[in-house]
Amino acid sequence: MKKPHIIILGCNFAGLTTARYIHAVVKGKANITIIDRKSLLTFVPNIPIQVLANINPAIDLQYKFMSFLEHDGSEFIQAEVTSIDLITNTVFYQPNERLGHPVRKINYDYLVIALGNRLAYDKIEGFDEFGHSVTDVFLGNRLRNYLRKDYKDGPIAITSDIFHQRKSDKLPKDMPIALTACEGPPVEMAFSIAHWLEKNFKGDTSTVFLSTPAEVIAEDAGETILNQLVPMMGKMGYHYQANTNGIKKVSKDGIEFNDGTSQEAEIAILFPDWEAHPFLKELPFTDDMGFVVTDMCMRNPDYQNIFAVGDAASITVPKIGSLGHMEAEVLANTIGKDLGIIKDDIKPMEFELLCMGI
Ligand SMILES: Cc1cc2nc3c(=O)[nH]c(=O)nc-3n(C[C@H](O)[C@H](O)[C@H](O)COP(=O)(O)OP(=O)(O)OC[C@H]3O[C@@H](n4cnc5c(N)ncnc54)[C@H](O)[C@@H]3O)c2cc1C
Repeated sequence: MKKPHIIILGCNFAGLTTARYIHAVVKGKANITIIDRKSLLTFVPNIPIQVLANINPAIDLQYKFMSFLEHDGSEFIQAEVTSIDLITNTVFYQPNERLGHPVRKINYDYLVIALGNRLAYDKIEGFDEFGHSVTDVFLGNRLRNYLRKDYKDGPIAITSDIFHQRKSDKLPKDMPIALTACEGPPVEMAFSIAHWLEKNFKGDTSTVFLSTPAEVIAEDAGETILNQLVPMMGKMGYHYQANTNGIKKVSKDGIEFNDGTSQEAEIAILFPDWEAHPFLKELPFTDDMGFVVTDMCMRNPDYQNIFAVGDAASITVPKIGSLGHMEAEVLANTIGKDLGIIKDDIKPMEFELLCMGI
């Protein structure tokens, strides 16, 4: 009998983990192909630490994964995924190692979408010139260079834009709601940059202005933690503002918020909205924002051979990698059950938040 073909789109946290979990479950009873536009995994959580240690994050936070996939017998294609045809079960992709490739196609029996999201830096007026972030190695290195060469000991503001969360009546009930996509990183950044300021005799906690569009920062951490964290930050000397209602613009003077207030800043470290990829928004298995609708076993309720995991999945809220890891295991077991390899009932996804950075 022909082996089913499982295609995984995206090979960072969620995609690579899923590929390896599926391999471990199906044990050669399916062919696995993974497509990503790059052949290196980026370990995003540690970018801030590298920046403050004055190390280009591109040097040691990008890992080769090919040998693991080769070891598993999985195929990897380095290409830009351009579209999906649900009628013919086809993925269209364009190899991107060199420009000029024709668009190619590949058929799937099962499709896993692990493409993460796009960060809407381009929706923040002034970001290109005056915005900083630590969400990828390019921006990390840009901030590192500014701190090293240009920083004049001015205020450092750290904030998030509003996350436009999904709606779909096909999603499981009582899913978490969040006004920001991922607010652990701004809090961690506030702590670590204050330490950097003190160590380099450039300032202290009072140089750092932390704010959130939500009622309270890092609301997903839960009341017990927040009841201690927020007063503690105040006592330590951090400036803190809630309910900004998101970022209106950033300029050489600082950040203007949607609630009409502003924050002076020499450096504005911004975490934008987490948006779905434009080509996914067109597809009928996504929510109204373009994130893939799944049940708690990571399967789309209408297209039973379509799965999603990680930031691309609508149920992943907040958008953090540790949830993607847990979802990957559930997803692999679900496919294992479909293929008759697992006989027991599958334990669906249960949410638990973990910090992966060091
Ligand atoms: C500063 C910072 C710190 C963080 N710290 C933590 C932490 O401590 N703990 C935690 O759990 N999470 C943390 N997160 C969140 C975590 O980084 C993300 O949740 C995680 O990266 C999501 O994984 P993913 O695989 O779903 O998506 P991504 O990591 O975004 O990967 C998506 C992959 O898809 C590929 N791709 C996208 N579109 C295409 C296309 N059209 N064609 C081909 N390939 C494509 C990309 O190249 C990429 O490899 C942090 C985030 C930030 C910004």
